[in-house]
Amino acid sequence: VTLTTSSALKGAIQLGIGYTVGNLTSKPDRDVLMQDFYVVESVFLPSEGSNLTPAHHYPDFRFKTYAPLAFRYFRDLFGIKPDDYLYSLVNEPLIELTNPGASGSLFYLTSDDEFIIKTVQHKEAKFLQRLLPGYYMNLNQNPRTLLPKFYGLYCIQSGGINIRLVVMNNVLPRSVKMHYKYDLKGSTYKRRASRKEREKSSPTYKDLDFQDMHEEGLYFDTETYNNLMKTLQRDCRVLESFKIMDYSLLLGVHVLDQSQREGGEPGQAGSDGRRPVGQRVLYSTAMESIQGDGKAAEALTTDDTMGGIPAKTHKEEKLLIFLGIIDILQSYRFIKKLEHSWKALVYDGDSVSVHRPGFYASRFLKFMSTSVFRKTQRKSAA
Ligand code: ATP
Repeated sequence: VTLTTSSALKGAIQLGIGYTVGNLTSKPDRDVLMQDFYVVESVFLPSEGSNLTPAHHYPDFRFKTYAPLAFRYFRDLFGIKPDDYLYSLVNEPLIELTNPGASGSLFYLTSDDEFIIKTVQHKEAKFLQRLLPGYYMNLNQNPRTLLPKFYGLYCIQSGGINIRLVVMNNVLPRSVKMHYKYDLKGSTYKRRASRKEREKSSPTYKDLDFQDMHEEGLYFDTETYNNLMKTLQRDCRVLESFKIMDYSLLLGVHVLDQSQREGGEPGQAGSDGRRPVGQRVLYSTAMESIQGDGKAAEALTTDDTMGGIPAKTHKEEKLLIFLGIIDILQSYRFIKKLEHSWKALVYDGDSVSVHRPGFYASRFLKFMSTSVFRKTQRKSAA
């Protein structure tokens, strides 16, 4: 028997995280040491229960937590208290996002919009483990960033199958309707949403679609534009330093006028009648992520923007922008390419594989700073 149904997997995730976070509270707070990054905690959860774990209705499974103390430190860095983490992930239902990527990963969103759980491949989990110490050295220096934030890495083993999960920040709050959604890489090769994707109720479009649909780009005032570009430049430099490529900018566009015509506010009450409160994790909203020095960020993140960044179209339509960098763990593709670089050299003269992350980053930045995001031209007073 395996955890093949989504509801069984959700249940196992919640039991496992419930156990491991509870277990952590008995471990005293101390400085994170290098060896903490390599610790793997493991617990067996039989259906009939054990003296450590409750009985449950799913097949027996084992739950592994990677680097528990290191991740506790990272959660703390973003102001996530153990009780809040438990509450978001375990006490409220997880919402399955329908088949968003091509890789076959499953995505779950917590009810409060704070966290995304993504299933990842063995190699991606291994890569994250190796990346972790250096990556968090950067996030520690500068938590205001559009880079993905990882809050936990787990593995569920059952019936000979391993399901690896990462918990990360959610870029697009469900409480705000995204009128357009884009996954942008700065490349034009095969960067159009498939027909199947377009037929969805809320498709994720790509670079070429963006150029068709927002030919003029999205306009920001000078200060906001500069902050956004500074943040993206700094983030790309970090990714380049880890030789990471193929990442995307996930971009959600909320059209304020359109939502008013549809009779709603961005922060309107959901079907359960509760008014969303916005994301509470520190530096988690788009607006907080780009406020480099932290000044005025609190004042700007108000109820009516829901953490989005105000922008306009060239026709002066008001927008709220939500964004973050995603999908940074697939760099084994790159490592593989390096192994075979002689082939590239022979077949298409590509002798500069090691320079590719730099090339990727500058093409990404160029596209974002010119085609996607633009500075509002001050109209002269004359
Ligand atoms: P592929 O490799 O085919 O791009 P993937 O399965 O690796 O896909 P991602 O690219 O990470 O998945 O994400 C796929 C989609 O899931 C995104 O386009 C977005 O709609 C959603 N998504 C992923 N990560 C997040 C996040 N942190 N916040 C909100 N939505 C997300």
